[in-house]
Amino acid sequence: MTLNRLVILGAGHAGFALAAAMRQAGYGGSVTLVGDEPGLPYNRPPLSKAYLGGTDHEETLHFRPARFFEENRITLLAPERALRIDREAFKVELASGRSLPYDNLVLALGARNRSLAIPGSELTGIFSLRSAPDAAGLRAALAGARSAAVIGAGFVGLEFAATAAARGLAVTVLDAAPRAMSRVVSPETAAAIQRCHESLGTRFVFNAQITGFKARDGTASPGDRVNAVRLADDTAVQADLVLVGIGAAPNGELAEACGLEVSNGIVVDNGYRTRDPAISAIGDCAHGPTTHGHARSHRLESVQNANDSARRLAQILTTGACDAGDPIPWFWSDQGKMKLQIAGLGGPNDATVTTGSNADHMTMRFRGGRLICVETINRAGDHMAARRLIASGIGPSLAEAQAGACDLKAALKAA
Ligand SMILES: Cc1cc2nc3c(=O)[nH]c(=O)nc-3n(C[C@H](O)[C@H](O)[C@H](O)COP(=O)(O)OP(=O)(O)OC[C@H]3O[C@@H](n4cnc5c(N)ncnc54)[C@H](O)[C@@H]3O)c2cc1C
Repeated sequence: MTLNRLVILGAGHAGFALAAAMRQAGYGGSVTLVGDEPGLPYNRPPLSKAYLGGTDHEETLHFRPARFFEENRITLLAPERALRIDREAFKVELASGRSLPYDNLVLALGARNRSLAIPGSELTGIFSLRSAPDAAGLRAALAGARSAAVIGAGFVGLEFAATAAARGLAVTVLDAAPRAMSRVVSPETAAAIQRCHESLGTRFVFNAQITGFKARDGTASPGDRVNAVRLADDTAVQADLVLVGIGAAPNGELAEACGLEVSNGIVVDNGYRTRDPAISAIGDCAHGPTTHGHARSHRLESVQNANDSARRLAQILTTGACDAGDPIPWFWSDQGKMKLQIAGLGGPNDATVTTGSNADHMTMRFRGGRLICVETINRAGDHMAARRLIASGIGPSLAEAQAGACDLKAALKAA
């Protein structure tokens, strides 16, 4: 192995997983992990789930304690921001003024929340959720709030909505799309999720055009507290707390500035390499080829993708190759008593077969008669079976499912 100095920019899920996997694979060179957030690398999913609704201390979010980094000779520079990559000199310039040489550089820079630039956005009581401090602020605000508006009926928005409704807040979810989770689940699963939230008292407004926020006296001066969300039809939704959850954009600026290709993420090949052989990208910030879904390439925002891309890149960097096959994407979301799980990637024109009720739901999605995605609510066994069935391409087919063959655990056993 010729590389001796590995530098990883971004100490989130993918960056941490790569550092740990390199040591596990026996890599003996130096590993430096640069992260612009203070403290130890931590897990984001609980921020919109158990952590938000509970009283846990921030330390419970850490992947590993400080001694793990010492024992594994992983140098963590945090908080430290990477400002520039000098590809010719094989160096990264850091905000502290330090310059970090590398033989191999991995970009694990994640994504950042999209913001709403509309009148009143600077009022207090309007939140977005990505980091541990964001979650701590939102958790504190929840304690004193009576009503909440959630802008964006995606994973994070709906997880927050379930927590807020369980606390007794009057919750309204607003989305520009005609249904919930429109980019990630089928209309059938979206309807089941919506009904579950409505049973908690949550109200949905779809096709919503949000024009601004206002304070109690109708103004929108910075520092005032939000009191309502204004809509284009001149109505307003009362809320003393607002969560904006309208998706994320990849952190591609560092790569773009040093001449790497960026197109909805840092463009990589199927070995996670950019067009510079010394620079790779993994996790939320990377856009690479895929054999799943309806597109030839994609960018995923998920823990599975962060972990799998880190594990596979560690194999490539230490052995020159990685295990065959493109890992099947899977996702989960805990919304109150609902555990939504998705195996595979659906597309807009899939045929579907649905079984079960709202809180015990399964929609199978098919392309060309073949099972390509399974969405379940509170059916963990079916989800696990679906991952294996889809990965190995062994059905059931659309015709079989339409004829009633919807027991995925039995299908897996039979196969
Ligand atoms: C509230 C919330 C809930 C989620 N829930 C789920 C879930 O239930 N299931 C699921 O699969 N996924 C979930 N996700 C998504 C999941 O957390 C991400 O897909 C995962 O963290 C991606 O890992 P990453 O390392 O690519 O990015 P991140 O974990 O975001 O890490 C990137 C890091 O790079 C840092 N960085 C950026 N620029 C620089 C720079 N110039 N210099 C130094 N550091 C920099 C960032 O600050 C960040 O710390 C959730 C995300 C959020 C925000």
